[in-house]
Amino acid sequence: MYDVVILGGGPSGLAAGVYAARSNLRTVIVERGLPGGQMQNTLEVENYPGFLEIIGPELSEKMHQHAMHFGVEWKQGEIQGVALDGPEKHVELVGGETVVGKAVIIATGAQPRYLGVPGEKEFAGRGVSYCATCDGAFFRNKKVVVVGGGDSAAEEGNFLTKFAASVTIIHRREQLRAQPILQDRVFNNEKIDFIWNTEVGEILGESGVTGVKLVNTETGAESTLDTDGVFIYVGFLPNTQYLQGSSILNQEGYVTTDGAMATSIPGIFAAGDIRDTPLRQIITATSDGAVAAMSAYHYIETLD
Ligand code: FAD
Ligand code: NAP
Repeated sequence: MYDVVILGGGPSGLAAGVYAARSNLRTVIVERGLPGGQMQNTLEVENYPGFLEIIGPELSEKMHQHAMHFGVEWKQGEIQGVALDGPEKHVELVGGETVVGKAVIIATGAQPRYLGVPGEKEFAGRGVSYCATCDGAFFRNKKVVVVGGGDSAAEEGNFLTKFAASVTIIHRREQLRAQPILQDRVFNNEKIDFIWNTEVGEILGESGVTGVKLVNTETGAESTLDTDGVFIYVGFLPNTQYLQGSSILNQEGYVTTDGAMATSIPGIFAAGDIRDTPLRQIITATSDGAVAAMSAYHYIETLD
């Protein structure tokens, strides 16, 4: 029996691990992938205080080492179900193993939202990508499009100009949602152009992507644009499949907590992107993780 079982090894889970282990709680992190979560797919992080610029995988490794240094256990596995009511919290992994703890911190973050158009699934990995850091280098001197208007579309669009001959950002409105500093960068980048008020209706190709079918959101007019690659950045969805039907999820599937990261179930806390929260960043994820761990500590104290 662990004191704390942390679900997910992104920045929120790793920070929770540091704080829980330093409070002498027997702590395990359950993670299906690499340590660091979304940071693994981020090339440049320049807004995490103390690091003027650091690549995401390096920050991931530093946070992982930090948690392991204080004695957090790392368990590789995919969470498929939970039984969270009652004093013993059960976390079921694919393959049949169950991890049991007195408290659970839910920190499984979010993953890219699909566009949901014909051609997207067919050409995934053959011109359709959700990760410029992973796939950008395959598009050296090629034409690519980026779909979306948020921070990810702006930041990754800018990054893609290191490789691609041209980058076209296709956005469904005529104003980006991205932070002003990221907007300045894309507007000042000569390799980037924009198609406003437009949605991608279909991704076209044969053995790989050759173009996109576009639909103007104001006039309904259809057109086709030739491209070699489509990078999709239309937001994220919370990784809460294993919590389906739980009362702690809001309508969008995010976990509702109070300021102490406590959910409505005693002993169950949440941290990071999985929360219903106004800002989803590394700094907010780590901060949530720290608060959640200390709340778990106080909860466990009440059990003794
Ligand atoms: P995540 O990082 O999503 O980690 C969740 C972890 O849970 C993952 O490792 C996942 O594998 C694991 N998991 C999920 N489901 C299961 C399951 N069923 N079983 C086992 N494990 C599971 N923020 C910044 O502050 N600065 C930036 O420059 C920045 N750039 C970004 C660039 C991109 C392209 C993206 C996508 C995001 C960026 N962000 C940035 C946002 C930042 O990465 C996130 O806010 C942060 O990673 C959230 O941390 P988290 O721990 O809550 O979740
Ligand atoms: P986001 O902020 O949710 O933006 C998604 C974008 O996609 C929006 O512009 C949205 O359009 C558009 N969109 C959504 N559904 C669409 C559809 N079906 N068809 C076409 N367009 C669609 O997502 P994000 O940019 O990935 O950012 C996610 C989180 O990570 C944010 O909290 C962000 O701050 C953070 N992040 C931070 C950084 C950084 O700090 N440097 C970098 C990347 C990400 P509308 O604008 O019309 O809604």
